[in-house]
Amino acid sequence: MLICDTHCDALWQRAYHDPADSVVTQDNLKKGGVSLQVLALFSGTDRYADETYTVAMNEYREFQKLRDEGWEQALSPLEAEDGKVRVMLSIEGGEVMGGSVERLHEFYGYGVRMIGLTWNRENEIGCPAADGGRQGIKPQGWAILREMERLKLPADTSHLNEAGFWDLIDRHGQPPMASHSCAKHLCGHFRNLTDEQIRAMAARGGWIGVNFCPAFLSEDKKATVATLCDHIDHMYQLGAEGHVGLGSDYDGIDTTPLGLETPAGLPLIFEELRRRGYPQQAIKGIAGKDFVAYYKRLGW
Ligand SMILES: [Zn+2]
Repeated sequence: MLICDTHCDALWQRAYHDPADSVVTQDNLKKGGVSLQVLALFSGTDRYADETYTVAMNEYREFQKLRDEGWEQALSPLEAEDGKVRVMLSIEGGEVMGGSVERLHEFYGYGVRMIGLTWNRENEIGCPAADGGRQGIKPQGWAILREMERLKLPADTSHLNEAGFWDLIDRHGQPPMASHSCAKHLCGHFRNLTDEQIRAMAARGGWIGVNFCPAFLSEDKKATVATLCDHIDHMYQLGAEGHVGLGSDYDGIDTTPLGLETPAGLPLIFEELRRRGYPQQAIKGIAGKDFVAYYKRLGW
């Protein structure tokens, strides 16, 4: 079974913290049966707000080291293959491009295949969910988005504010995605998606990866594998079947549901879904197939 995880901060962990603490290891990925792990070039915490490109490049150097160690890079999710571990680059925080289309091309050249438009800061493209705000996608943002569309690079709306989200739904030429977001109906975290957003994402042909962070899964910050599956259930009830998968956020979160401490635990999710009566086809979709199908819709 193809398993894809659409967000983790392993490169940030390796570049700015103790690499030994990263749970995203070849060993864990193999144990969990992961075929495609997306690795984010994260723009960095507020301390690094003035040097986001440098931060991203430091993380890219960590990525190069992993490749030197034998990690295999995927240049599209369509390269995901059962029984093999591949890693694909994304950006989390569009400020690493400084509003420049040339920088977008540069990162595309490194193999970046997904762009998180914002992290928790306002940038040249738009504004974060973190501070609400009514401003949608900015003119400079549309210039980047038009080029992203040409390159078939999806816009990742995790961390983006609602105004920006609806701009993408209404005006962008390709369906957006959310690489690591949960359902607000079940947990009122500011970054989670409303029912309306989830319905729109599905109707538009987009895709959502459910985050493993207990603070996004449950109001009391206590979550189990069952809590995570409740979010999948909820999205399915809203009609998002075929548009939902996994976006762990490993190395970006301090706690996880019991059993999901590392990617090695991913099969527990599929066991729980099976227990809940999900047909094998749906489980395969959630595990990774539907994520690949989303890229096919983008023209890959
Ligand atoms: Zn994030």
